[in-house]
Amino acid sequence: MGKIGVFGGTFNPPHKGHIIAACEVREALGLDRVLFIPDAAPPHKEMPPDSPDGRTRLEMVRAAVSGLPWAEVSDIELSRSGSSYTADTLTLLKERYPEDTLYLLTGTDMFLSLHTWYHPEMICRHAVIVAMQRDGSSSKQAFEAQKKRLKSELGAKVKLVENRFVEVSSTHVRRLLVLGGAEAYVSPGVMDIIHKKGLYGTARNYRGLSIDELREVSTGLLKENRVRHVLGCAQTAQSLARHYGADETAALRAGLLHDVTKAIDGEDQLLLVDKYDIMISDFERNYPKVLHAKTGAAVAEHLFGESPEVVSAIYWHTTGKPDMTLMEKIIYLADYIEPTRSFDGVEDLRATAYKDLDLTLLHAFDMVLEELIREKKRLCDETPAARAFLAEQLGVK
Ligand code: ATP
Repeated sequence: MGKIGVFGGTFNPPHKGHIIAACEVREALGLDRVLFIPDAAPPHKEMPPDSPDGRTRLEMVRAAVSGLPWAEVSDIELSRSGSSYTADTLTLLKERYPEDTLYLLTGTDMFLSLHTWYHPEMICRHAVIVAMQRDGSSSKQAFEAQKKRLKSELGAKVKLVENRFVEVSSTHVRRLLVLGGAEAYVSPGVMDIIHKKGLYGTARNYRGLSIDELREVSTGLLKENRVRHVLGCAQTAQSLARHYGADETAALRAGLLHDVTKAIDGEDQLLLVDKYDIMISDFERNYPKVLHAKTGAAVAEHLFGESPEVVSAIYWHTTGKPDMTLMEKIIYLADYIEPTRSFDGVEDLRATAYKDLDLTLLHAFDMVLEELIREKKRLCDETPAARAFLAEQLGVK
């Protein structure tokens, strides 16, 4: 009697998180082999547009597991038509391997929602459910509570594995494939297929995009909760540019791109720093959160081919600096006062922004600095210097 791991997923594309998790579970549970099963049409999630077809994902998974003697890749779901239901797959596998015990590998997100899947009782009848962690976000209590629920409601056998995990998703990898740095998470064999076939936009020329194309690409690289902010910033920047006689198109483009790398969290900003050879301070190395302005500017310049005016406005949009250009001021302020912002005093800034840009900017600096001091956050050098420069120019304290 053998122990077979069943690891289904979209694998769009497969990444180190999948492979490390499978290695860890195999070792912890003593599995003889793990079947990687790319799904055809996942019932629980929408595939992003331009996703590669099932056969291509299968090919990528084969490349990802090559060299792992215990790993097999199965087309059992791709060869069926319609939705890929795990209950049906496990029924077929149970017929194929009646003597063996099946272990269904699920990451945090999948495990916690398993009771909502199609015929969960069938899933629990045919396989031991294995919960792997994929990030630090879910508490032990949530896992234990779900284990209890699956046991009592569905008679499930559940194994919670305390695995090492790599905090990454295919969604994140798809962003890095466009912006740069995906090699950190994708094996060379998979990378090769992606580049040869030009998957995930890797073969696209992003230079000289129209505004509509730029809007579509830039919002596609954001997390959903950032989209309204970026569109609001772009629209505010355009209207400030019109009011003050700056280049409206440049303002719109800078607004659309100012947060283009914002979805790349923490340490992964450093992948972009390496890729674009960006000089950073110790402060930025220790707080990579603040790096998105510099990496965004590098991406705007090298990937999108934007003008120096647009690039510098993006570069300085989080800190400001002494002696800012009109475009830098517009983007800084548009980012701060766009319509989705709702802090105390924002209405006043919105009203004065069209009367006196510099005075409004000075007030914005004051508000930012006050907040940072109140929250006991470390200050960078640029914002106080920007504020001091502007105050002196305006002849105010
Ligand atoms: P997407 O970002 O497109 O939603 P994904 O990274 O979640 O994709 P899937 O192919 O849908 O990848 O995941 C297949 C299975 O692998 C799921 O059970 C998922 O929870 C698990 N999984 C995905 N990433 C990791 C990871 N970094 N560590 C552990 N398990 C993971």
